[in-house]
Amino acid sequence: MSVDLRGWIRDVPDHPKPGIQFKDLTPIFAEPAAFRAAINWFDDQVLKRDPDVIAAIDARGFVFASPVADRLGIPLALVRKSGKLPPPVIRNQYSLEYEDLSAIEMRSDALSKGQRIVIIDDLLATGGTAVAAAELAEELGTYVVAQIFLVELAYLDGRERITNRDPDCEVVAHIVYD
Ligand code: AMP
Repeated sequence: MSVDLRGWIRDVPDHPKPGIQFKDLTPIFAEPAAFRAAINWFDDQVLKRDPDVIAAIDARGFVFASPVADRLGIPLALVRKSGKLPPPVIRNQYSLEYEDLSAIEMRSDALSKGQRIVIIDDLLATGGTAVAAAELAEELGTYVVAQIFLVELAYLDGRERITNRDPDCEVVAHIVYD
């Protein structure tokens, strides 16, 4: 049975700031058939790229990436909001759609030189978070072969921001809002 995941995404206007159309994905987590359909989609996308490691972005990226890493038997590395991981960490500052300055971190030993990485997050908006995560992965000597999102807000041009920086990185999204 195919599940139309758009039906499980709730629009929340003006959250967390006026002018932001927030896409609430918690109805997907609350409906097992929808959650499974989302994970199955991520599984297929990750399998096609055959990465050495999946890097997942705090926090909704963790929800999708964890079952995929388990099912496919691929190591999972966490990209966390700053101050959560124990040292040694590397850090990167960036802006996202509704927050001017934020920072993410990875353990310096989370990835090894030469590995092929895919990055998973729930949603691509301006691409600030995705680019910051890719920069961290590259600082550790790895190659980001794909950035994979359940949802893309195409009107914010995040895809262009990722590919302008790295034309070799595939950008994949299941549900695109134009
Ligand atoms: P950006 O860095 O602008 O691409 O923002 C992407 C990150 O912020 C993702 O981790 C999303 O979870 C979150 N995010 C940004 N904008 C939205 C939105 N309109 N609805 C839901 N999540 C969003």
